[in-house]
Amino acid sequence: THFGYQEVSETDKEQLVKDVFTSVAHKYDLMNDLMSLGVHRLWKRFTVGLARPRPGQRVLDLAGGTGDLAAAMYPRVQPGGSIVVADINPDMLAVGETRLADKGIIAGVEFVEANAEALPFPDRAFDLVTLAFGIRNMTHPERALSEIHRVLKTGGRALILEFSHPRWPGLQSLYDLYSFNLLPRLGELIAKDRESYQYLVESIRRFPDQETFKTMMEHAGLARVEVFNLSGGIVALHRGFRM
Ligand code: SAM
Repeated sequence: THFGYQEVSETDKEQLVKDVFTSVAHKYDLMNDLMSLGVHRLWKRFTVGLARPRPGQRVLDLAGGTGDLAAAMYPRVQPGGSIVVADINPDMLAVGETRLADKGIIAGVEFVEANAEALPFPDRAFDLVTLAFGIRNMTHPERALSEIHRVLKTGGRALILEFSHPRWPGLQSLYDLYSFNLLPRLGELIAKDRESYQYLVESIRRFPDQETFKTMMEHAGLARVEVFNLSGGIVALHRGFRM
């Protein structure tokens, strides 16, 4: 691959992921909209709808850098609830913090620099954990999943939104065309950063498919795991519970 990705050490991978997001942090929103033709907003809305945050609940949005999910969930946990946005990258956290402050959301939201694979939170601290478009960049996704399980209360739920593998016949070849040709070009044109977007495309390819990821969640101890394919499986939302 472009980064010789398969051969890099774990610390290198962590650093690489940090660098990718540092270099795209400021153009991230524009790129998100362009990449997904604005559809990422719908995917996130669907996620929040299914997550059903309720007043008074304590929510963790992992890899929540942009603050998108936190902003959408915030009104639903009020009054009395709170949201912790955790991300490994301080530049992404800064983007989210500014975004929420712009919306007047300051109290009841906390921004924490943390690695999802080793969370600095006690057991059973949250009613709900969300994680959008972050797990495929992690070195050990299975560690992140068991951390999610650990910090959930009994009866708590985890919602994980991630690029997945197209399920509609014919969609795959269109999608290949888009992701291998158009997307890196857009990355170059808009973010002047073809490599980061090339990396994103490759990380999507390598990420486990819907069924495999469901099994990974079950191995981490999550129960009643369900998969919701969005946009023909280009994106999948997995939901599981701590029982
Ligand atoms: N959740 C946001 C959204 O959907 O708009 C941001 C998604 S962005 C594509 C991926 C985020 O995952 C980045 O902010 C990155 O810093 C974060 N990330 C990557 N590896 C991480 C890890 N091990 N722990 C916590 N965050 C991580």
